[in-house]
Amino acid sequence: MFTVQRYRGRIAPSPTGYLHLGHARTFWRAFERAREHDGVLVFRNEDLDSQRCRSEFVNAMFEDLRWYGIEWQEGPDVGGPFAPYAQSERRSFYLDAWNKLLREGWIYPCSCSRKELAQVVSAPHDDQDEPLYPGTCRDRRATAATPGGVNWRFRVPVGERIEFEDRRMGLQSFEAGRDFGDFVIWRRDDVPAYQLAVVVDDAAMQISEVVRGEDLLRSTARQILLQRALGVPTPDYYHCELMVDDKGVRLAKRHDALSLRTLREQGFSPEQVRATGYRNFAVNQTKL
Ligand code: GLU
Repeated sequence: MFTVQRYRGRIAPSPTGYLHLGHARTFWRAFERAREHDGVLVFRNEDLDSQRCRSEFVNAMFEDLRWYGIEWQEGPDVGGPFAPYAQSERRSFYLDAWNKLLREGWIYPCSCSRKELAQVVSAPHDDQDEPLYPGTCRDRRATAATPGGVNWRFRVPVGERIEFEDRRMGLQSFEAGRDFGDFVIWRRDDVPAYQLAVVVDDAAMQISEVVRGEDLLRSTARQILLQRALGVPTPDYYHCELMVDDKGVRLAKRHDALSLRTLREQGFSPEQVRATGYRNFAVNQTKL
């Protein structure tokens, strides 16, 4: 006898603006994959950054994604066995992980200012990614009872290749220290960084497959290192193609014209919006 683990997927938007067509497609893929596997879809509200997140966008995320046709079985609005599902309510989980990483020597405090870094670091690989850290504080001894006040960085194994088989894109391979450097896991303003929060939550919520945009491929390599350090399983990964606008620029929350909300207000039906398919085509509203 053996038990087959049930597929558990997730969608993890941040309430920093209205969701656009690109988000909707990625989340639709996540929804489809959970459905195809007869699994569960978890909605996680990634609202850690209180400077950028707004509560009106939280409600809009639920409303707009439901309108689009996505259904989830666990989430902030429906509850579930792994609650709470909003990251702002999960600080104790992240603190436990920070403590473990500190105790086991994986992380160090970094007091380099943004200005100092801007002078020495190489440019990030794309506009979402953090720049390659030059290692200035790498050998600092780490003693602290609480994080906050400095950035905490994960010491990556320089020269090691991190590989994973993406379910859509095949084998992916990144070199630590070259494709990404020591990355921030806890921010100086005392907010757990994205990389740490995601790894902790995906493990705690027993996510078996992560479906998200391919802009996060390099982050996946970082997250695999964190999973190893924390001793938690690595889920499967499926990175979706990103959507671009008619000038070839990746959609962002500033593309208000392509937000689900705007399209809905303009009278498009969810079926019409969904029918735009998965091609990475130049978005032109008149074609919808
Ligand atoms: N909250 C992240 C975002 O909105 C998604 C993170 C993820 O899927 O891992 O970009």
